[in-house]
Amino acid sequence: MRFVRCAVFALAALTCGLSLCVSQAPAAAQPAPQSSAQATPAQPASTDAYTLSPEKLAQAKALNRIRLTLEIVGTLWGLAVLWILLAGRWAAGLEKWVTSISRFRWIQGLIFFAIFTVITTIASLPLDAVGHASSRHYGISVQQWDGWLGDQGKSLALGILIGSPILLLFNWIVRVSPRRYWIWVWVISLPLIVASVVLTPLVIDPLFNKFEPLMKTHAELVTKLETVVARTGTNIPPERMFLMKASEKSNGINAYVTGLGATKRFVMWDTTTDRMPDDEILFIFGHESGHYVRNHIPKMLTIFAVMLFFVFWGCARFGEWLVRRFGARWGIESVAGRAGFLTLIFAISIVSFFLTPVTNTISRHYEHEADIFGQEAIHGLVPDPVKTSVSAFNHLGEAWLEDPAPSPIVEFWDYNHPSVQTRAKFAREYDPWVNGGHGKFFDK
Ligand SMILES: [Zn+2]
Repeated sequence: MRFVRCAVFALAALTCGLSLCVSQAPAAAQPAPQSSAQATPAQPASTDAYTLSPEKLAQAKALNRIRLTLEIVGTLWGLAVLWILLAGRWAAGLEKWVTSISRFRWIQGLIFFAIFTVITTIASLPLDAVGHASSRHYGISVQQWDGWLGDQGKSLALGILIGSPILLLFNWIVRVSPRRYWIWVWVISLPLIVASVVLTPLVIDPLFNKFEPLMKTHAELVTKLETVVARTGTNIPPERMFLMKASEKSNGINAYVTGLGATKRFVMWDTTTDRMPDDEILFIFGHESGHYVRNHIPKMLTIFAVMLFFVFWGCARFGEWLVRRFGARWGIESVAGRAGFLTLIFAISIVSFFLTPVTNTISRHYEHEADIFGQEAIHGLVPDPVKTSVSAFNHLGEAWLEDPAPSPIVEFWDYNHPSVQTRAKFAREYDPWVNGGHGKFFDK
């Protein structure tokens, strides 16, 4: 589904943006540091708040180099594959072939887009495998290769079963409304995005991981989480708290909120409950509650919906230009054909690449807000919210081998959470109640 970004692109940005995992706060948004009483000589702000042992640091540096390289190569390779399909006339050839095997247009289209999905998935497989191998090498992933391949197979099946019909529908719209198709695609993609946010936790997630009520094995923890619920006024009843058996695949630590309306829920990885002190879990839960209380999912959906309007308009113009400029050479007459439709997907892939820092900046903004909310939410519930938050970030960073000093450009472009260092530094300085002050979201 890597290239099937149209409707999915907003969603991807969303879903990544809303899992807590590893993030931090943009410096500009940080409130002025509170000078704590005076006694303890406060560490200078430049001192790291997130640190790793020399051995872990070397591993983190090496792994993050690999991650970045894979990311850059993967993006370029993804665009190259689309270009090769178009410029090598493979797309045009495939279109010709599918018209010969059925007289029904919809069957031709389904086969065309299913094969397209298979090709792009197989093309990205080697790089994904390198990513998995390096994750295993550094002890983050513990998933065996057969299980990993099984997951790849499931993703491919979903791409074929769900992605192909959606592409067929969009392709049909381009054909029946050659001038205004981008508006119609936009209109239809909105309910599709909302539906996928609603259905993902019910239909997609259980295909890849096992979930059970958090209550079942962690009743005591749920009772503690209820104290945060009471303080935040969040409507997260215990039946909306789930435990995900992440330890079968990963050593990473994580928690996230997902779903919308009736499927909205809080999910905790079992690695988190197994390895983090309860106080820190309360902080993570407070962070996730922040996403809930501050309505981050609806807000981001709205922002992305507006962005998509312009993206679809721009990509329609771009795709049509590609066909005018290269169509003769590629064997493509218009964007309305099967192969021609791929020029629109190519255009969207390029535009979404350049929008990456925009969507990530929005995501970092909300993550920072959730961090503030989380730290304020545990005030009065844990002995020292500052210490708890900083320690939680260190646990998160170490579990994922996060780089303590990522390049600012990489952070700006690629991080959907602020870096762990930024988050930990902010947490260390953030104590709004000192000297009788009050929090941004809580008075007490
Ligand atoms: Zn978050």
